[in-house]
Amino acid sequence: MKRWFSFQRDLGFQLFVLYLLLIVPFLITLWVFDGLIGVRIQEDVQSSDLSLAQSISQEVDLALTSALNAVEGLADYQGVIDADGTAMDEVFSVISNTTPDVNLIYRLDSDGIMLYHYPVGPTSTVGDDFSFRDYFQQALATDQPLVSKGRISPTTNQPVATAIMPLWSKDGEFLGVVGANIRLESLSRALTTILSQHKTEDGLQVVILDSDNQIIAHPGGNYLLQPATNIIPDQFMKALLSDEHSQTFSDSTGEERLYTHTSVANVNWQVIVSRPTSAAFATQIILRRIVYVAAGTFLLIGLFFWQTLRIRVIRPIERLGPISESIGRNQPLNLEDQNHLITSAKREDEIGHLIRSILRMKDSIAERLKEQATLLETSTAVVSSLDPEIVLNRILIQMGRLLQIKMYAVIAMDEEQGNFRIRASRGLSKRFTEQLSIQPTEPDSVTMRALHAKEPIQVSDTENDPSYAIRRGRARVEGFRAVLAVPLNTQHTPSTALLVFHPTPHVFTHNEIQLLTSFANHAAMAIENATLFERSDMRLREQTQRLEALVQSLHDGLILTNLHGKVIYANKRVGELADLSIKNLAGQHADQILAKIIDKASEKTNKKSQVQKILNQKGEKKIEFSHKHLDQTIHLRLEVFNVNDEANTPIGRGIFFHDITADRELDRMRSSLVSTVSHELRTPLAAIKGYASTMLADDVEWDRASQREFLSIISDESDRLTNLVNNLLDLSRIEVGTLKLAHEKCNIKEIVQSAANGTQLTADNKLVIKVEPKLRDVYADPLRLESILRNLIENSIKYAGEDAQIKVEVNKNGKSIVFHVHDNGPGIPQKEGERIFERFYRVDDSLTRLTSGAGLGLAICQGLVRAHGGKIWVERVDDGACIAFTIPIKSNAKATKQKVAKKKVSR
Ligand code: ADP
Repeated sequence: MKRWFSFQRDLGFQLFVLYLLLIVPFLITLWVFDGLIGVRIQEDVQSSDLSLAQSISQEVDLALTSALNAVEGLADYQGVIDADGTAMDEVFSVISNTTPDVNLIYRLDSDGIMLYHYPVGPTSTVGDDFSFRDYFQQALATDQPLVSKGRISPTTNQPVATAIMPLWSKDGEFLGVVGANIRLESLSRALTTILSQHKTEDGLQVVILDSDNQIIAHPGGNYLLQPATNIIPDQFMKALLSDEHSQTFSDSTGEERLYTHTSVANVNWQVIVSRPTSAAFATQIILRRIVYVAAGTFLLIGLFFWQTLRIRVIRPIERLGPISESIGRNQPLNLEDQNHLITSAKREDEIGHLIRSILRMKDSIAERLKEQATLLETSTAVVSSLDPEIVLNRILIQMGRLLQIKMYAVIAMDEEQGNFRIRASRGLSKRFTEQLSIQPTEPDSVTMRALHAKEPIQVSDTENDPSYAIRRGRARVEGFRAVLAVPLNTQHTPSTALLVFHPTPHVFTHNEIQLLTSFANHAAMAIENATLFERSDMRLREQTQRLEALVQSLHDGLILTNLHGKVIYANKRVGELADLSIKNLAGQHADQILAKIIDKASEKTNKKSQVQKILNQKGEKKIEFSHKHLDQTIHLRLEVFNVNDEANTPIGRGIFFHDITADRELDRMRSSLVSTVSHELRTPLAAIKGYASTMLADDVEWDRASQREFLSIISDESDRLTNLVNNLLDLSRIEVGTLKLAHEKCNIKEIVQSAANGTQLTADNKLVIKVEPKLRDVYADPLRLESILRNLIENSIKYAGEDAQIKVEVNKNGKSIVFHVHDNGPGIPQKEGERIFERFYRVDDSLTRLTSGAGLGLAICQGLVRAHGGKIWVERVDDGACIAFTIPIKSNAKATKQKVAKKKVSR
């Protein structure tokens, strides 16, 4: 499986396998072809050698037949039969002359004795016994012609074979033989002639053996009568009897030869043709060599082709894989890879083209990545700051760097001036940036065209573009020949466009326009962000300020802590309560601030533990305590509550100090009102009822004086009741702000006197009135003024005792008249100086308990004084009590009334 994958992945391996698929069948075909052709060639060579042997055999047979025919004919001749010398001489000479192969014709008698031979010389064997000869012995047993073995003729001293014809008489008597010696040299010559027709370099060898396997013919006459084994391998000699005509054996020299044999008819001679296999199968060998060379060449060419393919194609492609991956991942190439690319890129072929494409792709990827990185930096710049000027400058720098632009500007609508002006720029002259002003009504301006069309507009050559004719001068001065305007897609800001200038004529490409549009969008985003942030920030600041003002103005204290109890926010009131500067509050632990506030509480030990308890508990808790602040006792309700976010998750705690002093006061007033009013009403009513009942009693007759006294008491008590009700009514009017003051010219002296007269001074009382002479008349409500004075004098009478010394002094002080009502009584404790002007408030001492009163007199006095625009206070004196108040000389009743109303609200 792994091998299969590597096969699939390895192109070189695939090509090698493909090459094997082509070469192996080819080699097999060559091998089969070589085998088939070899067999065929062998057959052809063998049959050709056989046919040669056969043709030689026929030739030999012909020569033997003619010799045999000759001796057969001689045997019929009478002179030969009779062994007549003369006759034989005659006939033998004729025969000898006509058959050149025959060199001797002779006649043996029945005992084998040579009777005659022709020719006679050189050596005569007449009379020699040749009965030992094989042919003689054979002739004794046959009447047919026969051929002898080869031998050296003693007569001619030449190697011969003899054609023999036995001679028999009619009676069957053996008469001897007649024979003709066939020259073996002539047979050899015949073979030489035959062989001369064949190529000598073939190494062809022909040999004829007799029945005794003697060589009886050999080209050139060599080896005659030698045993065949001298030149023919034994194995072949042994195989002569088999049916195989051709066999291959090595000769004595070790050379391999093809031997072919055939027998000569009737005489048991063998014709053997042989030749070296190298010559016999030369064609086959050549063919085989051709096949080997072809296969080898094919293999070599294939290997060379594969190797070339590997080096020139596969390896470069293999190397391109990791290089392409590195390029894709934008990793730097090592030096070797770089050199490989540079070298390979010089190639003219497809690989060179591919590598050049990859290099272009590499550059393109690098460019795209650079663009991407720049846009990313630009995006970062957009979110890095909310200052549009900084962001715009950053964007423009990035844009200039990426696109190699030297001159560019952002032009925006100046809403105040109603025209377009440059907001940020690079590479443009100060004069140009300051003076450039485009009216929204200029239809042929590139900026306006781009803004109207909502798409980039370019002028690629300012000198040739007719629409730019009127601005040409400006372009020449500034040194640009092409301009592109890209509108900024903004919604919350005035119309804005990006202007890019080129010093030479230039057609902005689609890619450039796309990139510039992207920068324009970033710039738009930056401007929008800044604008929206500015708006929301302003709104937020306003809201925060409003909230801050509200919380700071609270009469109550508020602390916000985080979950660990650290103060995040505290208002001014908390600072006042804790006697701490507001700056020191944040960051402190809430416990510390609370401890400071609780320190001033009454029963603080108890409260401290309670406060600690509710701080440590979760949920909302309340605790109330009184607290001394600026010599005043205020009542606070401490509320602790959880502060949760929108998801209701606690994010901190709130501590609220609610000033409940007013509530407490109200409660006190309510109970005072009930007790006072019930007491103050009941006392006079009881008196009236008592005296009225007394007078109405049936059993008693009251004298007139008594009746008068009773009625006078009833009348006084009724007046007291009326006075109380009037006071309550006045107070109520003052409270609700419906008190109406008269605005009349008042004589102070008369009013003081009238007030003094209205009081019930006892005989021991002494009232001194001291009015500054030449005091101007004032505009006031005389009745109210008298009421104030009367109240104060009555208090003096009431609290200073029966022998009270009372002094009323009136002086002018600036724009006011100052009244002092001074007595020599027990006085008013300093700490009560403020509170005695509160409604239903009475100093809690024995003196007050002994006197009746509702605690309303001074409250009403204060209300009336304030209604006049004056103020009332307790004057510090060494002895007794002294209440002082002012009335403005020129009072404004209307304004005063409003002030009174306002005071009430602030309470
Ligand atoms: P009332 O006299 O009905 O109690 P006021 O409002 O007139 O109520 O007085 C408030 C308190 O001021 C009195 O209860 C008394 O304790 C104190 N006070 C007023 N005038 C004098 C004074 N001349 N000397 C001593 N104490 C005074």
